[in-house]
Amino acid sequence: MSEPVILVVDDDPQVLSAIRRDLRSRYREDYRVLSANSGETALDAIHKLKARGDALALIMSDQRMPSMLGVDLLARSIEVYPIAKRVLLTAYSDIDAAVRAINEAHLDHYLGKPWDPPEEKLFPAIDDLLSSWQSDFRPEITGIRLIGNQWSLRSHEVKQFLASNLVPYRWLDIEKETAAAPLLEAACVSIQELPALILEDGTILRNPTLDQVAESLSLKRAAAHDLYDLIIIGAGPAGLAASVYGASEGLRTLLLDGNGPGGQAGASSKIENYLGFPSGVSGTELTRRAVAQAQKFGAEILSPVSVTGLSADGGYKRVALSDGKDLVSRTVIVATGMTYRELQTEGVSGYIGAGVYYGSAITEAQSCRGCRVIVVGGGNSAGQSAAYLSRFAREVILIVRRDSLGPTMSHYLIQQLAALSNVKIRTCTVAERVEGDGHMQKVWLKSLADGSVVSEEADALFVFIGTRPHSDWLPESVVRNAKGFVLTGRDAQVTEEFSRIWKESRDPMLLETTVPGVFAAGDVRAGAMNRVASAVAEGAIAVRLASDYLART
Ligand SMILES: Cc1cc2nc3c(=O)[nH]c(=O)nc-3n(C[C@H](O)[C@H](O)[C@H](O)COP(=O)(O)OP(=O)(O)OC[C@H]3O[C@@H](n4cnc5c(N)ncnc54)[C@H](O)[C@@H]3O)c2cc1C
Repeated sequence: MSEPVILVVDDDPQVLSAIRRDLRSRYREDYRVLSANSGETALDAIHKLKARGDALALIMSDQRMPSMLGVDLLARSIEVYPIAKRVLLTAYSDIDAAVRAINEAHLDHYLGKPWDPPEEKLFPAIDDLLSSWQSDFRPEITGIRLIGNQWSLRSHEVKQFLASNLVPYRWLDIEKETAAAPLLEAACVSIQELPALILEDGTILRNPTLDQVAESLSLKRAAAHDLYDLIIIGAGPAGLAASVYGASEGLRTLLLDGNGPGGQAGASSKIENYLGFPSGVSGTELTRRAVAQAQKFGAEILSPVSVTGLSADGGYKRVALSDGKDLVSRTVIVATGMTYRELQTEGVSGYIGAGVYYGSAITEAQSCRGCRVIVVGGGNSAGQSAAYLSRFAREVILIVRRDSLGPTMSHYLIQQLAALSNVKIRTCTVAERVEGDGHMQKVWLKSLADGSVVSEEADALFVFIGTRPHSDWLPESVVRNAKGFVLTGRDAQVTEEFSRIWKESRDPMLLETTVPGVFAAGDVRAGAMNRVASAVAEGAIAVRLASDYLART
């Protein structure tokens, strides 16, 4: 396949030539920079690129063109190249249109004219967009390939695992991709051995366990030291932030995660309310950057490594791992977050991974192309996933138990969903039963308003309802509330158990649990704000408190 394309569109020949020249000067080694002088010519070029199997990495269009506005062109390009990055070239007076286009045209960036000097105003933004596109892009048929069945739980688990460890791979559905069968035949893999993972060096893994996948990809799973200053359990935003701050302050820092870095945020298609990203940032991209930053400061990251227990032994904390090994640290930050509650709908448990998915809209979105899907839930995660899936699916039905989205979903998301013609919202509705043959095919929806039940054909059901903290593995001495969320600081002090457990002469610090030197940050903590920004902030604060603890002991 030839190099990916950057397409620039402007009806003004001088501007077009200047932007093309600047982009070529920087990107011509790795990208083909093409140009078009109108929206129509650009659309024609986009369809031709698609027909030839070329990759479009970025499309940059002027807003004011006589026959088609830039925003409209960018919006129309989504159907053909959903993950291409979209940039609007604007005059100062068009900034309002650009801000509106962030939702309508899935705009990733707007670039003001003039962009001189390009080293400051053009290249840093385009570098970021291209590196983010590279991490989402799956080249046609090279690299790591996973062949399996869309409706198999095992295939889904391996996909989730690769995605959360930021391993680029190409998914080939045996029933849809013509390239899959010849590959299996060449590798002598039978249908019963799926999913099969074909690595770049030709190694073939037949229905591998996640441990085998991790081992073959050389994911690091053994700690380098016997004793750490700080062990952080959970590599979601809270844990990643803690590892960046811990390592940057010179603490010997180890970050552990049972799946891969990212946590719930890694499943988010677009985080729009995180400071500094006006056009939003995908969870994968934020994770990629955070991991690079933590590693730059010298934090050690081990994954997949699950923690099964914790005990305090004098000033030392012993962290037990699922492989039977122990690690020792002077302080611990528990940042294990939470997970989605299971949907108690008849038939659902039989189709998990085979049409029913919890919090995994990004991983499965590509497979939903042209399909009809149902999203359950009224929170931001459900809304965001419905909006993302609408770029791939023919129709998305969002079902919500309450009579409106207002109390549970952010205003900007409600507006975004209202503007999407293929998203239908059904309030006062619950899923009553699901059915299928090998994979989920039909969902019965019940109206809570009048008790009526209708059946809907659907290829997938994405569930985002309520949450459960990942805290079962903690010892009793770490006091939790009735729902299992970890209590810290003053909240812990007012519990009945506190005086029995806490034997220090001082009060616990703000994010300190009932075990001295063990802190909690992010969604696993009672009273957390359940946002990326607040998890990041708590991760950073917990490190500061851990340093104070270390200074005292
Ligand atoms: C689909 C979706 C969209 C969202 N969108 C937004 C948004 O737009 N804006 C926003 O602000 N927030 C959003 N959120 C919420 C936000 O992602 C969370 O509040 C945030 O991720 C919490 O971070 P955390 O680090 O506390 O926990 P998590 O992100 O839950 O991470 C916890 C980590 O701990 C690991 N872990 C758990 N148990 C163990 C164990 N025993 N051993 C080892 N590792 C373990 C898990 O594998 C996981 O990686 C969204 C959430 C979802 C699911």
